[in-house]
Amino acid sequence: MSISVAALGKIMWVLGIVAWYVIRYPFERRAKRVRVVSSQRSHVENFGLASALLGLAVIPGCYVASGIPEVADHPAHLWAVVVGATIFAIALWVFRRTHKELGRNWSITLEIRDKHELVSGGPYAFVRHPMYTSFMLMGLGQAFLLSNWVGALAGLLGFSILFFLRVDKEERMMVEIFGSQYRDYMARTKRLVPYLY
Ligand code: SAH
Repeated sequence: MSISVAALGKIMWVLGIVAWYVIRYPFERRAKRVRVVSSQRSHVENFGLASALLGLAVIPGCYVASGIPEVADHPAHLWAVVVGATIFAIALWVFRRTHKELGRNWSITLEIRDKHELVSGGPYAFVRHPMYTSFMLMGLGQAFLLSNWVGALAGLLGFSILFFLRVDKEERMMVEIFGSQYRDYMARTKRLVPYLY
């Protein structure tokens, strides 16, 4: 049996998404048990979450299942699948590290939990938003794995919408709660990419 390079890219993406969910699921369950003391969930935030979900999961999922939109297909290359799978694997590793480090402080949205602690170790020593770095890397991996412009680029675009709608608010919320402790932390870290941004 032989499969096409395009199909191989799709298979790798599906495996990546399944692994993503296997990593996240236990944290989601545990987080439900920790009380939320303040929430900044809003329509804008919900729109951002929907964009990220559409771009990273729904649109590429539909493409993988149906091949639509076929007009946006482009030639698949083995090197691109290898690069995409490598970036996706790194993304998953960072994703898992950030969940372990955030522990009970994790939320899908902008929330402060009971006895919230400022995390600044592990991946958080390098950047303030390593989980968002991992989502950007997932989007980049997707861009290399899927040989269709729409399926490929939806992830980076969808997650960027969530990121730019959220990041200022998230940092303001952290400053409100942690004051100079978070300001000092901001002074010594970048947002997404160590030393750059
Ligand atoms: N922006 C972070 C966390 C994403 S989860 C990252 O990309 O890694 C979102 C929640 O994490 C927010 O609601 C906030 O309450 C919490 N959070 C963000 N940064 C944090 C930090 N350094 N320490 C503890 N909690 C943090």
